[in-house]
Amino acid sequence: MRVFKFGGASVKDAAGIKNVHDLLQKVGYEDVLLVVSAMGKTTNALETVVAAYFDKSATLQSSVQEVKKYHNQILLDLFEDENNEVFTAVNGLFFDLEYFLSHNKSPNYNFVYDQIVSYGELISTTILSHFMSFMGIKTTWIDVRNFIKTDSTYRDAEVDWDLTQKNISKNVKRKVLNITQGFLGSDENGFTTTLGREGSDYTAAIFAYCLNAESVTIWKDVPGVMNADPRYFENASLLNQISYREAIELAFYGASVIHPKTLQPLQKKEIPLFVKSFINPLLPGTSVSKGEDLVPQLPCFIVKKNQLLVSLSSIDFSFIMEENISEIFGLLHQYKMKVSLIQNSAISFSICVEDKFGNFNELKNILAKKFKVSYTENVSLYTIRHFDEKAAQMVEDGKEVLLKQVSRETMQIVTKEAI
Ligand code: ASP
Ligand code: MG
Repeated sequence: MRVFKFGGASVKDAAGIKNVHDLLQKVGYEDVLLVVSAMGKTTNALETVVAAYFDKSATLQSSVQEVKKYHNQILLDLFEDENNEVFTAVNGLFFDLEYFLSHNKSPNYNFVYDQIVSYGELISTTILSHFMSFMGIKTTWIDVRNFIKTDSTYRDAEVDWDLTQKNISKNVKRKVLNITQGFLGSDENGFTTTLGREGSDYTAAIFAYCLNAESVTIWKDVPGVMNADPRYFENASLLNQISYREAIELAFYGASVIHPKTLQPLQKKEIPLFVKSFINPLLPGTSVSKGEDLVPQLPCFIVKKNQLLVSLSSIDFSFIMEENISEIFGLLHQYKMKVSLIQNSAISFSICVEDKFGNFNELKNILAKKFKVSYTENVSLYTIRHFDEKAAQMVEDGKEVLLKQVSRETMQIVTKEAI
């Protein structure tokens, strides 16, 4: 079986949905499982709904209407006949969403977030599946929440691999075209969970692992994995082949084409990953596979924006040693701050972190009891794999460098202004 992942950009409008159909005609669709994200920027739009719900804002209704209108236009563009049952199916999902909004009693933000944003994927897969059948291709729509079981860490759920493996091996049909939702799972009580923003790649890897799939393909609006993000760097070029290790490093430091959690399950079973263009699906794109020698021959640039550079120093000039460091990391873990760079000296310790969940203020107050805390917001972290002088120069030019760290293969530079 092959697993294909289609992200939001690939299904952002009626033309995108039609393109998925045409692409499948070209590359084949028997014994395939499609993992699909919410359409376009729907997840962001649903985050606005969550915010309005908690703020008890008067804009709650209109924020829901916005999401409805967007999908309705796509439906009208795809299906001429408003009697097509897809309209009832999608309306049903919006009805469920509105029912949740008016009946929910839980004050737990993360719980409510998952119950709401998950409609993006439920709607997109419903539309795609109906469109495929409208075009004469039979699909099996599956609710991923019956397959991927997780703990109850809403917004960042941890997969229960044993249960998930059992569900998938037993119930996913082979030799058909399956369609399911990326990003979602469910906990032991049957409540919807999500795997973290951009988590649909990871969903594809979970299915591939449990199905012993032949390969995973992530269909993108770029030709494959590039040595730099073409939005920020001129002359970006395609990497034809890279190792799992290289891909993990690139993804970890922020290369947005592959979600960092995706590689590990694939690497364990040596399932190849392809990153290809949904515009030119027959081009080879990038292949990620085993092989120590698959090291890119050119420097790879990755930018992570919106980072925090935090420096801690001891108040009494005592050394920052193992004990302190383990306490600091314990707290970072507890507050879900992802660390992408560490540097320490005798009495100070600096980290570059991402505050995805808005926890830094609280954490800062705790740290301030023991350390002198200083920090700079909104810094950019540049990582250059396989760097050379020219590459470093290119990044540093015209920017204020706050910190720089060099190891054998990687140079990291923290700068103040974003490009
Ligand atoms: N729709 C979700 C998000 O935008 C998951 C994904 O796209 O992978 O984060
Ligand atoms: Mg998305």
